[in-house]
Formats: sequence, C-alpha cells, structure tokens
Amino acid sequence: MVLFERDNDIYRDRDALREDYQPEALVGRDEELQTYQAALQPVINGEQPNNIFLYGKTGVGKTAATKYLLAHLKDDAAQYDDIDLSVIFLNCDGLTSSYQIATRLVNSLRSEANQISTTGYPLASVYEMLWEDLDDRGGSILVVLDEIDHVNDDSILYQLPRARANGDLDVAKVGLIGISNDFSFRDDLSPKVKSSLCEQEIHFPAYNAENLRAILEQRGDVAFHDGVLSDEVIPLCAAYGAKDAGDARQSIDLLMKAGDLARDEETATITEEHVRRGRRALERGRIKEGINGLTEHGHLVLYALLTLDLEGEAPLRSRDVRPRYTRFAELANRDPLVPRRMRDHLSELAMLGIVSVTERNEGRRGGTYREYALDMDVELILSAMMETVEVVGVHDSVAPYVDADANAEPPTLEDFSEV
Ligand code: ADP
Ligand code: MG
Repeated sequence: MVLFERDNDIYRDRDALREDYQPEALVGRDEELQTYQAALQPVINGEQPNNIFLYGKTGVGKTAATKYLLAHLKDDAAQYDDIDLSVIFLNCDGLTSSYQIATRLVNSLRSEANQISTTGYPLASVYEMLWEDLDDRGGSILVVLDEIDHVNDDSILYQLPRARANGDLDVAKVGLIGISNDFSFRDDLSPKVKSSLCEQEIHFPAYNAENLRAILEQRGDVAFHDGVLSDEVIPLCAAYGAKDAGDARQSIDLLMKAGDLARDEETATITEEHVRRGRRALERGRIKEGINGLTEHGHLVLYALLTLDLEGEAPLRSRDVRPRYTRFAELANRDPLVPRRMRDHLSELAMLGIVSVTERNEGRRGGTYREYALDMDVELILSAMMETVEVVGVHDSVAPYVDADANAEPPTLEDFSEV
C-alpha cells in the first residue's frame, strides 16, 4: 500500500518561499541598495571600512540586502590581490549582551580546536582575545550584527568601531554593520555609540502594495508551476501585506499558506478564496502566539476585558476594567498590579492587535483618555488562555464559548454577578 505520494502539482520549488531562501536579485530597493553599496565602497578601495547602521521594520529586506551586497562584495574583492576580505555574520536573536556577542565573534575567528567557553571570562579579557584574533586574521573584516536590538548593553557597539582609534588593533581594518528592526533602538543609543556606529545610516522604509507585488511575482515565478496562480492572488496578497505592515516576509508567508491550502485540497489553481482563508489562519496563529507570550497579569487583564466586552460594556477606560481585573487577580491568588502597570498591559494587548484603542477628548478642559475594546474572536482568545480561565474560573459571560466537550472543564463560578 502506498502511503506517501508526491503532490507537486502546485509547487515547482516550495523552498523558494521559505525564510532561508536568498533571492537572486532584490526588486524595488534601488535607492537603498545604491546608498548601501556606496557605503561599502571603501572596502574595495582598500580603505578603512565605514561603520554602517541599517534600520527599518521587520521584513523590509535589511537582511536580504546585506547578504546580497556582501556576496557581491566578496566576489568582486577577490579580483584585487591586495584585498583580503572576511565577513563575519552574526544574528543576535537569542543573545542579550555584548559579552555573548564578543565570545561568539572570538569563536568565529578561531579554529574548532581553539574555541573558548562562552562564560567565565571577564569582559575585558574577551575583548583582548577579540582584538588579537582580529589582528591575526588581518585584512579587511566586516562584522555584521543582525537584529542588534536584542542586545541590552551597547559596549560592543562602542568598542568595535573604536578599536583602531583606541590602539587595540594594528593590522585589521574592521567595519561594523549593525542592523535593527526596532526604530527606537537608534534613538536610545548613547551619543558616543551613535557617533561611531551610525557613521552611515540607511533607513529601509516599509513596502507598499506595488513593491510587494513585484517581490511576490519574482518569488512566485520560482515557486509555482506556470498557470497555477490565478490573476488575483498576488495583487491580493500584496494588498493585505501593504495594509498590515509592508512586510515582505508576511506577504510571502501568505502566498505560501494559500499554496498549501490549494495543495491540500488538490485543486489545480490557487484562488482568491485560498488567500482569504490563508490570511485568517495566519492571523489566528499570530494572535495565539501573542497571547501565549503574555505574562499571567497580561492574561488576567485580557480576561477581565473579554468578559466586560461580552456583557456589552466596551469600549471601556482602564479604570473601568480595573475592578474586575482586581477580582480576577484575587481569584488567581495574585497581588493586583498598580493601575499604571495594569494600563501597560492594555497597551501591550493593543500593540499585539488583540485589543483596539480609541483616543477620546475629555472636552475643552480635560486631557485625552483611551478606551479599550476587544478586537478578536472570543473562542480564539479563550483557547489561548485556558490556563488562566481555569485558575480564575469560568465567568458566566464566557460559559457559552468554553468547549462543552473538553475533558477538564473547569467549574463555573456562580457568584460572579457582583464583579
Ligand atoms: P528584514 O531583515 O528587514 O526583516 P528580510 O531581508 O529578511 O527582512 O526580508 C524578508 C523576506 O522578504 C525575505 O524572504 C527576503 O528574501 C524577501 N525580500 C525582502 N525584500 C525583498 C526585495 N526587495 N526583493 C526580493 N525579496 C525581498
Ligand atoms: Mg532581518
């Protein structure tokens, strides 16, 4: 009996839609690439490399542009005998300190047999090793620190660009390329870091629908068989992408989700309907992940707002959510947070797109205040925070939504009426 059979009628190369795929060329980023290329030019001239700071939201091509240009730079530098170029690429996701980065850099410069432990040394000695190893390598060395916004202290961002001026390096010509997904990261840098790291700043703006269309068409040509995509599919993915965040990754994910749905259903073409359903599925996944990542108090605040919303009380001010939140916190055996911290949780929920916010004016003399309401479907939210519902108890308002067939159905609390 055959269990597995190839089902490649839709995809020519599905991997072209995956995150790790590097496109042959970038579309619609000419201006940024030109600036970036000019900033890298000193390397080819055998000069001290610039320090470069790249910033923009996620999915706007920062990593792709860097890999693309550095691959070309390496190829083209190979034509000059007097240029010896090394590129060290480090993604800082999961790294939180300059110490961790410095030890990773040391190890990437060393052979397998000479690796150092990533804990236990004083930071100053790790830097000593780093300078020595960089000088041993010699030539031009570009250090790329991608997603540097994960790093909590800026020591390495100061030390690396200044190493030569400080007399720590004699031979190696080191340039630092810092990439950040977080706008505020740049503003929060200390002035001394800003002046050295941000020698050349390049901003990558969000993509509009037209940009996204071009990117999706390029990717779709590689990924799908001819004639599989209905005409409306790419424009629709691009329109959603532009409306959401101008994020190319999100749009490519959507195209892949639509393709997967079509493949599962064994249809011959991908249609608008697949895109719409794919979008709902991805959205649900994102929200679920967002809720899972919240703290216990985040869940309690959300649960309070959810029940009030179901009772028709929303939109509500933070102080009107508070009594119920406080009660829920007590039921969960937790000390309620102070009002200000509770409000921070509401803001976080709004940022995740789970809660909607409206700014209101208090009239001529008053300031503004914010009102909150729920922006997501109830079952999805409940299913993502069942643990909290179990400790607090099932509020009357959500009882109809709690899966009646669930084995571990928590007891319904009767005396919720007064909260
Ligand atoms: P960032 O690093 O800014 O978060 P990426 O460089 O990882 O974004 O881009 C996200 C996805 O979109 C990657 O798959 C990348 O190949 C693709 N992409 C982004 N911009 C372009 C572009 N201009 N042309 C082609 N593909 C692109
Ligand atoms: Mg990136």
